[in-house]
Amino acid sequence: MRSFQVCQCGAPLQCTEQPTPKPAGSEVLLKVLAAGVCHSDLHLADGYFDLGGGKRLSILERGMKLPVTLGHENVGEVVAIGPQARGVAIGDRRLVDPWMGCGECAVCRRGDENLCVNPSSIGVFRNGGYSDFLMVPHPRYLFDIGDMPPERAAPLACSGVTTYGALKKVGPTLSTDPVVIIGAGGLGLMCLALHKAMGGHSAVVVDIDPLKREAAKKAGAMAVFDGGAPDAAAQIVAATKGGAWAVIDLVGSSATARLGVDSLIKGGKLIIVGLYGGDITLSLPLFPMRAITVQGSYVGSLTETAELLDLVRRTGLPPVPVTTRPLSEVNAVHRDLRAGKVIGRVVLTPA
Ligand SMILES: [Zn+2]
Ligand SMILES: [Zn+2]
Repeated sequence: MRSFQVCQCGAPLQCTEQPTPKPAGSEVLLKVLAAGVCHSDLHLADGYFDLGGGKRLSILERGMKLPVTLGHENVGEVVAIGPQARGVAIGDRRLVDPWMGCGECAVCRRGDENLCVNPSSIGVFRNGGYSDFLMVPHPRYLFDIGDMPPERAAPLACSGVTTYGALKKVGPTLSTDPVVIIGAGGLGLMCLALHKAMGGHSAVVVDIDPLKREAAKKAGAMAVFDGGAPDAAAQIVAATKGGAWAVIDLVGSSATARLGVDSLIKGGKLIIVGLYGGDITLSLPLFPMRAITVQGSYVGSLTETAELLDLVRRTGLPPVPVTTRPLSEVNAVHRDLRAGKVIGRVVLTPA
């Protein structure tokens, strides 16, 4: 099988040929039908996250081993099943939940494998879907997609469940007050679509790129603002009539997190999702005095993926623009994504 792998951090992915593996135990082998390209793949290819102040978080030191095949937004067709794998049949088309933990600790048993301290996520710590075939360790990570087109369903595994998990953290004000979404890339448009599907009141979308603001406006944003404007926070506070109850920061840079905090009303919450990198300094007395919350949100649990698929079955697939490109063009897609040239999501299909 052909796979596109990180062999050296900071270098283009390399196409490697290996024998197609055979599933053992509870493993399931899928032929990849669609593999979404996520912005975090760029960080994984670089090998680090920017912590701000010149500090870096090395993904290799966190357990990523090279070479590794990227790709964590996958839909595949079951082509081989290990002797202990139950509940799947050859020919089934399944969405793969990539956010795997050790499966044995208290956190995993509670159902929060995405928060396991020993993660083994697909496309990060084990081989992902930038490949002809993908091995999944257990059928519990596989979700039926019915007759959804694979390239439309694939982004649900990261972009979908990540924004769904963040939107759930907003709480009861989701249906009564505007939510501010910072970042109108693939994640932003997904967030906007799911916000509507979840019965969200209205959304204010912030992006520095006028084309992305336009896309957000078309997708139903109540208002769009340029996050780079000197009075961006004042504009958001005015649009939300005194400040936002919830800001979802899908960028996660020093500038966007600062803007997020400055846009909150007393009692409001900033939910940081994006991994762009950076840092901010916050005055501690303002936490109690403004009663604000700053919360991180990392992908989603298996339960949240199941809930998301139920939501999508009821309300339809999120209308996020999806472009398909052949798997062999993955390095060109990464370059486009780095240059900010991608509207919506690019999904690779092995041709
Ligand atoms: Zn992702
Ligand atoms: Zn665990």
